[in-house]
Amino acid sequence: MRDLAAHPELFSLNTATVRMQWSLAQAVEGCARHGIRAVALWRDKVAEAGLDRAARLVRDAGLRVNDYCRGGMFTAPDLEAAREDNRRAVDEAVAFGADCLCLVVGGLPPGSKDIAAARRIVADEIALLLDYARPLGMKLALEPLHPMYAADRACVNTLRQANDLCDRLGPGIGVAVDVYHLWWDPELEGEIARAGRAGRILGFHVCDWLVPTTDLLLDRGMMGDGVIDIRRIRGWVEAAGYDGFVEAEIFSANNWWKRDPDDVVKTCLERYRSVC
Ligand code: ZN
Repeated sequence: MRDLAAHPELFSLNTATVRMQWSLAQAVEGCARHGIRAVALWRDKVAEAGLDRAARLVRDAGLRVNDYCRGGMFTAPDLEAAREDNRRAVDEAVAFGADCLCLVVGGLPPGSKDIAAARRIVADEIALLLDYARPLGMKLALEPLHPMYAADRACVNTLRQANDLCDRLGPGIGVAVDVYHLWWDPELEGEIARAGRAGRILGFHVCDWLVPTTDLLLDRGMMGDGVIDIRRIRGWVEAAGYDGFVEAEIFSANNWWKRDPDDVVKTCLERYRSVC
């Protein structure tokens, strides 16, 4: 397994980690200050800065966009609006030369209790989006989310489900392995190996699971502060052939989002070297 301390270039900052503190322009400057070479960008911050300006800032800084966040929400009530918005997300990802567009697929449609139907909608809509993204060369990264989000954010909840879906959908789609969502899964090691054999691991996201977790969405921990054996899971991902970025992605309303952003980034880099 690689020693990450010898590979600072493999660190990626998901800018949601400092979303309350930094605009896109500030994040670009911050990455330069800390020697960070890759970022995951969010659409709202790009919209705030303006797409052309944002793309110029990122390009001029020589930053790689390993992940563009995000597309999906395929089960929204207005199907046509969701399709249009997802095609726009692909176009934006292309404008940044991003490695992939990350997909959070959506949960149950409003009023529905039929999760199987939601999963069918998701499969059909991703197939449609793939028809748009493939000719543009933009890969889609399907991100299974922890089952606690099945109702409202993503009805694809395990890596096995994501692998099965990718098998059906064909080329142009892969998976993002996020330790926060997947660490508990007894099938994780085998499914990571399966994803690796198919050459479809497009991202590896890290943060930590705090005990207790006080907010379903916004109480993620800094790597090393929780119960996830991040290094073990990275070992599986590397053994499966993944040699890409380790992306720090921490949504933390009451802790890290309230801290000095340079300290947050410094801590991320320290933990990247020591526990990831
Ligand atoms: Zn993630």
